[in-house]
Parts: sequence; structure tokens; C-alpha cells
Amino acid sequence: MRANRAASIILAVSFQTLQSPLCFLQSTLSDFRLPDWLQQYQCWLEKEGQDISDHTDRVGAPPLGMFDLSGTRVDEILYSPEYWRMLKHGYQAGLIWRVCEENAVFPAALGIYVTSFYDPGLACPYTVSLSTLVPLSKYGDAELKERFLPRLLQKDEAVWQGATWMTEIKGGSDLGATVETMARPAGTQWLLTGDKYFASNAGANLAVVAARPEGGARNVRGLALFLVPRYGRNGQLNYSIRRLKDKIATHSVPTGEVELRDSEAWLLGRAEDGIYLILEVLNVSRVANSMGSVGLAQRAMADAAAFAQGRVVFGKPLIEQPLMRRQFEDRLRQLQAASKLAWKAVVLLNEVWQERPPYSDRYHLFRLVAHLAKYWTAEVAVQTAKWAMEVHGGMGTLHEYRAERWLREAMILAIWEGPAHRQILDGLEVMERKHAHRLLFQSLAATVDASSLQQMEARVEQHLALPREEKEAGAEALFTDLARFTADALLQAEE
Ligand SMILES: Cc1cc2nc3c(=O)[nH]c(=O)nc-3n(C[C@H](O)[C@H](O)[C@H](O)COP(=O)(O)OP(=O)(O)OC[C@H]3O[C@@H](n4cnc5c(N)ncnc54)[C@H](O)[C@@H]3O)c2cc1C
Repeated sequence: MRANRAASIILAVSFQTLQSPLCFLQSTLSDFRLPDWLQQYQCWLEKEGQDISDHTDRVGAPPLGMFDLSGTRVDEILYSPEYWRMLKHGYQAGLIWRVCEENAVFPAALGIYVTSFYDPGLACPYTVSLSTLVPLSKYGDAELKERFLPRLLQKDEAVWQGATWMTEIKGGSDLGATVETMARPAGTQWLLTGDKYFASNAGANLAVVAARPEGGARNVRGLALFLVPRYGRNGQLNYSIRRLKDKIATHSVPTGEVELRDSEAWLLGRAEDGIYLILEVLNVSRVANSMGSVGLAQRAMADAAAFAQGRVVFGKPLIEQPLMRRQFEDRLRQLQAASKLAWKAVVLLNEVWQERPPYSDRYHLFRLVAHLAKYWTAEVAVQTAKWAMEVHGGMGTLHEYRAERWLREAMILAIWEGPAHRQILDGLEVMERKHAHRLLFQSLAATVDASSLQQMEARVEQHLALPREEKEAGAEALFTDLARFTADALLQAEE
């Protein structure tokens, strides 16, 4: 009886923590001091942003204004002024400019976590702006940086947004085969022609775009990364938006089909390093996506907890039913572990984000952890959102409440920047070619008991020695267990 009461008290404390992203972050990242601006940002989202976000989700894809009254093509996304206020608030709060000012990715990662608790779709513009800023600041020459960097770092409403456009109609996984956008040299610039099929933050002022320089190989080695502004030097639109997608969720970011027709572009880095730069962009977004996924999972749990405390079944609050209470406890622990994994990916990214090819071992460790985190946090988000909807019973299925939204949003987090298969297979590759798992096990050695570590290491090594077909076919179970193992180990280190 006393033990039950103690468990209820612990759970009640945990539920309070669950209701606030910052309280949860504080309890999970005990070694990290959360900045004041983040507190203010959260307060704003709580008081004003959430209502705007709910409305944006209900209204769905915004209309695209393609022409002005004189018949000139303008391609403007007709969001409400309230939406723009919400969007610009995050930029002004410093999710992006603080990254340069503090020379660290933490402001973006933490801001994306908090954003995602209220609106996972809104986290996307910040993510892709970060993923534009990073390659521009690393690989842009002095002139390019002078021209564009200050615009991305502006602290007022005029701030520019970024975007990352790789995927074309034939697919986003096998970019080496499917990218048909061609790049033609034109003096110090390039001209790009092709179509991007999933272009989030369509309308962005500046995009990083994958294209194939003329004569480039028909594989990933033939791709390069380019910077494309919304307006060309003549002041005309430099790309057009063919249409906006009607998606199940992430209504807070316009995703469109973009047409490039002799669009002015600048090459970033060396063309022969293009695929590395493209993967760097994707990996930054994957880490951001991991923070977004745990923010969303926390929100789904927080809403489920609030409902279960108020709902009375069989004579007592749903939350006090033993089966439900156990589920909450287990999921809370899983969420804490997943958050640790996402944060580990952030910390490693922060160490290596300035590296260029050829990369250090630390970078290979980062890559493995980023794949584990993107994969596992998205799984946790989807499973938690599904379960949270079930906790609400029939009410969970109704559009008028939020529970169903979190499941829709979670499904997009799981797919974009590479679904589970991509993360698993790329994770396998970095273990096989760079032995990144050995670096991972070394880094966990101080927190995990030696025999569990040896067992997991032996299992990975055995798996990597399998014939290719068998290795890929059986990779899901291995990768899932490795992700759980890593997340639990990181959590144990705190306990
Ligand atoms: C809302 C939304 C916004 C997006 N925004 C952007 C954006 O801004 N920029 C951008 O570039 N892309 C964007 N994408 C595209 C996204 O990144 C792709 O959907 C994703 O990378 C997968 O590509 P695909 O959809 O073409 O699937 P495909 O590449 O056709 O793959 C289909 C399925 O097969 C799986 N698969 C692939 N290879 C293998 C294999 N070897 N073994 C087993 N399974 C495999 C994939 O994981 C996937 O599940 C967005 C997608 C969505 C849904």
C-alpha cells in the first residue's frame, strides 16, 4: 500500500515535469544549464503560439498565390499574418542566429525541442534554416558569406529562411540514381535546371540543392551541393513553386514542388566532395529531427497523462489503474532514454560540425549515433503518439482534440530525412566501413557492465560478418536493439 502511494507521488511529480518541455529537459539534461531566452520562448508558445498552431493545423495547406494583379509570377504562400508572427518569433528568439553567435548547435537543438512540443511542423523551417546555415558558413567563400550569411542571421522580422532540397519524383533514398537536376557552369556561377518533388519551406529565401554538374557520373559521386536564392540578381524569381502538397500533417511548413529553370546557383565546396556535403546537410537535419521527435513524444505523453488523471473508470482515475500506471512508468523511462540518445547526437554534432572530409573517427561515431537517434526517436514518437491516442479512447480519434494530431505529425517525422530503412542501412554501412560501433562501445564502457557490452559487441560483429543479403535482411532487429541498448546506457549513466 505504502509502495503504491510512493509510486503515485513519483508519478505525479513526473507528470508535472511532463507538462513543460523545459522542466523535462532540465530533469533529463541535469548537467546542462538552460538559458533564459528559452524559458521566454516556451512561455510565448504556451500563451500565444499554441492557439495559432492549432488553427494552422486545422486549416491545412495554405493557398499558393502564383500571380500578382499584373499577371507577374510571384509564387507567394498565403499564410495568415498570425502564422508569420509565430514563425518569425522563433527566429527572433534566436534558434538560428544564436548558433553563430555562440558557435554551438545547442540553441537550435533546444529550441527545436521546445517548438516541437507545441508544433512539430514548425520545427521544420528552423531545422532546414540551420541545415542551410551550416554548409554556407563552412563552405561558402568570403563573397558568398558576405552576401548571404547576415540575412540568415538577422534578428528582426526580415530574417531570411533556408531550405534543403534533394528529393525528386523518382525517390529520395537513392539520390545517386534519382537526381536529374542538372548544373551548367556560367562564369563564377552555375545554372540549375530540374524539379524538386518534396521541397519543404517552399518560398524560402535561400535553399541548398542537390544537382549533377554536366558530365557528372550517374551515381552519388556525380552530385554536388548548390546554393540557390529565391530571387536572381535581376530581381526576378529564381525558382517557381508548381504547387503545394496537401499533407496529413506538418501544416506549419509549406512543402511544395519546385521548378528550377536555369536558376542562378553557387557551388558549395568542391564538386567532387558533393555527396559528403549533401550527407552533412541531411545529418544536421536528422539530429534536429531526433530532438523534434522526443519533444513530440513528450507532448503526446503529457496530454495522455492529463486525460488519464481526469478520466474516471471503474471507480477511480484511469491513471491509478495498475495496468495504465505501469504503461506510463515504462513509457516515461523510454522517453527519458530516447531523449538521452537524441541529446548525445546533439553533443557529438556540436563537436564535429566544423569538420570537412576526410573525417575523424569522432565524426564516424557521430554518424552512427545520428542514425540510431533519428531512427529510434521517431519510432518512440510514433509508438507513443499511437498509445497516447488509445489512452484517450474514442475521443482520441476526434479532430477537435489534439491526440490524433500528434500521431499524424509523428508519421512525418519518421519518414522525412530518410525513413527507418535508410537509417538502418546507413548505420550498418558506417559500422562496416568505419567500425563506428567499436567507438560507440568504447564510449559506453564506463556506464555499462562489461559482460552486456561484450555480448552486444559480439552480436554486432557476428552480424557484420554475414553475407550481404542476410546482413541487410536481418538488420532491423539488430539496429533496434543497439538503439535501445545505447539509449538505456546513456540513461543509466545519470542514475
Ligand atoms: C512532409 C515531407 C516533407 C519533405 N521535405 C523534404 C525536403 O524539404 N527536402 C527533401 O529533399 N526531401 C523532403 N522530403 C522527402 C523525404 O526526405 C523522402 O520522402 C524520404 O527521403 C524517402 O524518399 P521517398 O519518399 O522518395 O521514398 P523512396 O526512396 O522511394 O523509398 C520508398 C521506401 O523504400 C525504403 N527503402 C529505400 N531503400 C531501401 C532499401 N535498400 N532497403 C529497404 N528499404 C528501402 C525507404 O526507406 C522508403 O520507406 C519530405 C517528405 C515529406 C513526407
